[in-house]
Amino acid sequence: MLTCIKSYRDIPFAHRQHLHEGHCSLIHGHNWGITLTFACRETDANGFVVDFGKLKYLKAWIDEHLDHACLFNAEDPEIEQLLTNTRHLFKAYILPNCSCEGIAQHLHVIFDQMVRVETNNRAWITQIEIAEDSKNSAAYRPE
Ligand SMILES: [Zn+2]
Repeated sequence: MLTCIKSYRDIPFAHRQHLHEGHCSLIHGHNWGITLTFACRETDANGFVVDFGKLKYLKAWIDEHLDHACLFNAEDPEIEQLLTNTRHLFKAYILPNCSCEGIAQHLHVIFDQMVRVETNNRAWITQIEIAEDSKNSAAYRPE
């Protein structure tokens, strides 16, 4: 198996962990990093796992859904009120869990499918690492 890695850096968005006992329960932002590890058994005609110049669909998805967004856990009890009364203040994105770990797992489902379609199932995503600012990160790699 061959791999290659693409990183997207300094993507600003906010989140909150409604169950956290500390300050993470408050809406706050980070500059996020998304690092994708692609894999294949056979390269394309250029010898690439994926052509970095042909990944614009991933950047477009990130720009549309995450850039300047506010992420909420699907079970956050404040969502309904926030999105009813202050909907104009948020580009909301709701997912099962908006921790680094949860974002990595969620994006894997979406991005892996996109890569498989774009490469006719020749390549896939074997790991996604999500970084909050520069010090904390988590990764999801399917078993
Ligand atoms: Zn945070």
